[in-house]
Amino acid sequence: MEHSLVEDSVVALSQVLDHKSDGVQRVGQTQMVEAVATAISGRTHLVVEAGTGTGKSLAYLIPAVLSGQRIAVATATKSLQNQLADADLPFLAEHLGVPVSWSVVKGRQSYVCMAKLVERMGPNLDGGTQLLDEDSADLDVIAEWVRAGGTGDRDDLPTTVPDDLWRHVSVSGMECPGKKQCPQGSKCFAEAALEAARDSQITITNHHLYALHMAAGRRILPDHDVVVFDEAHKLEAASSAAFGVDVGGGRLVAFANNAQRLVAPSQRDQLLGEVRSLASRLGGEVELLPEARLNPAAGALGEAILGGIRAVGQTLRALPNTDEHAPQAGPIARVKAQGGHIQADFGMALDMPQGYVAWAEPIRRVVRVAPITVDDSIAANLLVHHPTIMTSATLTTGGSFTPLARRLGLTAEAIPDDPAAFDVEDPLSRTYEGLRVEGSFEYATQGLLYVASQLPDPREDQWSAAAGAEMRSLVEAAGGRALVLTTSYRMLKVAADALKGAPFEVLVQGEMPKRQLISRFAETETATLLATMGYWEGIDVPGPSLSLVVIDRIPFPRPDDPLMQARRDAVVAKGGSAFDEVDLPHATVLLAQGSGRLIRNEGDTGVIAILDRRLTAMRYGQRILRSLPRLLRTSDKERAVRFLAEVSAARAEQ
Ligand code: SF4
Repeated sequence: MEHSLVEDSVVALSQVLDHKSDGVQRVGQTQMVEAVATAISGRTHLVVEAGTGTGKSLAYLIPAVLSGQRIAVATATKSLQNQLADADLPFLAEHLGVPVSWSVVKGRQSYVCMAKLVERMGPNLDGGTQLLDEDSADLDVIAEWVRAGGTGDRDDLPTTVPDDLWRHVSVSGMECPGKKQCPQGSKCFAEAALEAARDSQITITNHHLYALHMAAGRRILPDHDVVVFDEAHKLEAASSAAFGVDVGGGRLVAFANNAQRLVAPSQRDQLLGEVRSLASRLGGEVELLPEARLNPAAGALGEAILGGIRAVGQTLRALPNTDEHAPQAGPIARVKAQGGHIQADFGMALDMPQGYVAWAEPIRRVVRVAPITVDDSIAANLLVHHPTIMTSATLTTGGSFTPLARRLGLTAEAIPDDPAAFDVEDPLSRTYEGLRVEGSFEYATQGLLYVASQLPDPREDQWSAAAGAEMRSLVEAAGGRALVLTTSYRMLKVAADALKGAPFEVLVQGEMPKRQLISRFAETETATLLATMGYWEGIDVPGPSLSLVVIDRIPFPRPDDPLMQARRDAVVAKGGSAFDEVDLPHATVLLAQGSGRLIRNEGDTGVIAILDRRLTAMRYGQRILRSLPRLLRTSDKERAVRFLAEVSAARAEQ
């Protein structure tokens, strides 16, 4: 009897859950399995908001594996990538009863570049280092590891090496000339990872690499039928990064340094002197610019960019022609690739494609050029080709998928004469099904969502001092065990000042590397961690170390953010509301991410405190609240403090 993928997947879910210690079949997980199986077999797009605790990775992996199709799964974080490759897929391989094959593919810079390693250490990797003494030992470790059959993947290295040293033995995608042009192409680890993925049913990768794959006309990753994006709320940012470019003097300096020993001595000073002088001119121009939108082709900036293109071109023409076995063949191929990318990217800045915007980032000393929106690019390079499943715990605004789905190229309606479908045989529609499934948590009994409605409006001057005092009293009531997330460095300082002298350890972002800071917070039950934007997502600290998440205010994007400004203008030009379509969805997803740090497993309990009265005072607040964890809600400070004191007392007794 023929079974459908939906039926088979649901049965398989129930079978594999028998092998899990907490293997309860959850309604949301079953719904998601059915929806994913339906999308794969019906070749449609699916967007699933699945609350924390749904078990969403198994919910997409089971139908993916049983479909027999080739599936690319892209995640935003390394931890989720590791979970899929090292836990979920091995578990399914053991219990699903069908063959399961998978590979992980990362960006080039994640692997040892054999060409560079051989150039430094000789063909047998046993000497010849040209690095300083203190780096030699690390380099020897890398060479020894490679000689012993190591994977070449930095994450598998038996030791941690500094970024500076890693740069000596790795390349970016911009510098790699590709397997055919590289003398070590046959021994290349990055190429080997791609080769392994060609033989695997499931390719696990990251958003950034998948976005580069789209930007490169789908020429990086092996062929696949279906794509799953987990943590899909991050896809827009990764796509914007991949379809955009940085223009700055640093790229010219790196090019000149790499070309230094390759250009004939008679031309070296003149050619590379010119490149370096243009680099400094360009850097000087960018440094003086305000962080605002600009036309890179205009004035002295445009001249410096054009000069950079010409100087790079002259240097490339002066490189010797060598055969592939010559010792300089590898470095020359890499410099050619690097120069070619600089010319193309700088050229794009001088002749910006329609729909792109440029702005200065003086601190990074670059001009950033990026598409205002990525919807059409994602549609043309993904959605018309592959059924796509996008999932995350936070995708909706006010219960609606529309704002985010639209920005990712999906539409509720079929688009007549869709330009993205031009030249594609049998293009897929850009329409999608949306599904919201609840996680397994009993939010109503696990905690409180407290909105500090008695505080001044965050736009008023008195707010920051009042918010600081509120943070102190809440964190004290929790006995530490708090994560305080701020929207600015200014408020981070307010929080740090407010918590000075507190009777528990206060960890502040910047005191130590991020991973170390989070580990210390997780290991020290009463510690409190204060951090700003980079910490709103991804912190996963279940258990007693986290009973309180304090968020200073609704994280609306900065009004003067150049890319956001351009997006607002584009929405308004089409007759839409910039607030509804740009600011509110952005703030909602981020606030939901920050709030989602509190309840990470069934036993967690505590308070989410948001010190922004607009959540209850403004009408849009209701739309935001609909996307936050469904805890009991209160504006009563005493109730929140009592709850925290009870949790704190219970923790202290354990
Ligand atoms: S192809 Fe060559 S240059 Fe590129 S990463 Fe591999 S070894 Fe390095």
